[in-house]
Amino acid sequence: MDQVDVVVIGAGVVGLAVARALALQGREVVVVEAADAIGTGTSSRNSEVIHAGLYYPPGSLKARLCVQGRDLLYAYCAERGIAHCRCGKLVVATNEAQVAYLHGLLAKGAANGVTDLALLSGEQARALEPELACVAAVQSPSTGIVDSHGLMLALLGDLEHAGGLLALNSGVNRAFPSVKQSDVAMVVVANDGTELAATTVINAAGLYAPALARQFQGLDARHVPPAFFAKGSYFTLSGRSPFGRLIYPVPEAAGLGVHLTIDLGGQAKFGPDVQWVGSPDDLVVDPSRGDAFYAEVRKYWPALADGALAPGYAGIRPKISGPGEAAADFLIQGPAEHGVPGLVNLFGIESPGLTSCLAIGAHVAGLLAAG
Ligand SMILES: Cc1cc2nc3c(=O)[nH]c(=O)nc-3n(C[C@H](O)[C@H](O)[C@H](O)COP(=O)(O)OP(=O)(O)OC[C@H]3O[C@@H](n4cnc5c(N)ncnc54)[C@H](O)[C@@H]3O)c2cc1C
Repeated sequence: MDQVDVVVIGAGVVGLAVARALALQGREVVVVEAADAIGTGTSSRNSEVIHAGLYYPPGSLKARLCVQGRDLLYAYCAERGIAHCRCGKLVVATNEAQVAYLHGLLAKGAANGVTDLALLSGEQARALEPELACVAAVQSPSTGIVDSHGLMLALLGDLEHAGGLLALNSGVNRAFPSVKQSDVAMVVVANDGTELAATTVINAAGLYAPALARQFQGLDARHVPPAFFAKGSYFTLSGRSPFGRLIYPVPEAAGLGVHLTIDLGGQAKFGPDVQWVGSPDDLVVDPSRGDAFYAEVRKYWPALADGALAPGYAGIRPKISGPGEAAADFLIQGPAEHGVPGLVNLFGIESPGLTSCLAIGAHVAGLLAAG
């Protein structure tokens, strides 16, 4: 049986960032990925927004890792030449009843260390974005966008430069504790039966992380949360983007509302909406969902023309809280939480997971250092 120091399961942006952090500490790291390429999961099906850190409960992992991760990510993008843009965003209230939410957002942002927010009147917001309809807005200058594929390639490059390896087409089926060797914590078993012994195992399997953890012998089931899947569909806008900044409405349950984001090529898209689905593979966009988008978007952009939206793509949020429940925090459990030496599980790494990836890498390295 082959033996390595660290096995990271999953080559999404989070698995790659954790693998990079551990490889840069001098550890021998192998990333095992079920698909035939990196980043084919949620990491390539999102809004590519670098979030500032406004929305999350103060003190939560989401709040802390988003704010830290945002700063780390901007610095990393600048250092490594990864395409990105600090374009800023406006969170808009389209009626007076929503203005109280904006005040709450300012307070929450300040508590999270987001110090550059400003409350704008409708006129001030329209001076920035003339096509916008709103009664007030919160301006977040440090929100931006990033080329998530460029980011993942840079993370992989760092990993390989530090001696790490990537094994594609290598789905993991289960793992069990090693009883024979004291320097081995777990044996990971691939779908083809291949066994790999490791001192440290990181479960960064995204949507599949809870199901996979249930196949880890020795891990008490009470440490594995339920998995829920909240699909988010996007519709793309034909023609030029009417806005230079990202435009977010006041959020609805389980998502951030049907917002407008721009990619680095200038293409505007609206979404994601929220649709609870039964499978992590349910990724086809239902064109009929576009009807509801027109009504939502016209609340802040009345000039949206009939027929301007086309089905784009969908991503699925790896939720660990279900419909109607409060959004759960990231759940990152090391040996101190679940008692299995050398194992770290990452559950519920939904948004702002992309923004937070470098901070998550540092956090996991810290958990392991603490034993
Ligand atoms: C609609 C939507 C919009 C979002 N927008 C944003 C945003 O704008 N900004 C932001 O910060 N975050 C955003 N996010 C969140 C962000 O995309 C995720 O937090 C992040 O991509 C999660 O990365 P990951 O590596 O944990 O998961 P994934 O990218 O899903 O990677 C998991 C990997 O594990 C592999 N895998 C699974 N099972 C196994 C197995 N048994 N063996 C081996 N490999 C396995 C998969 O093939 C996959 O490659 C959004 C998410 C969604 C759904």
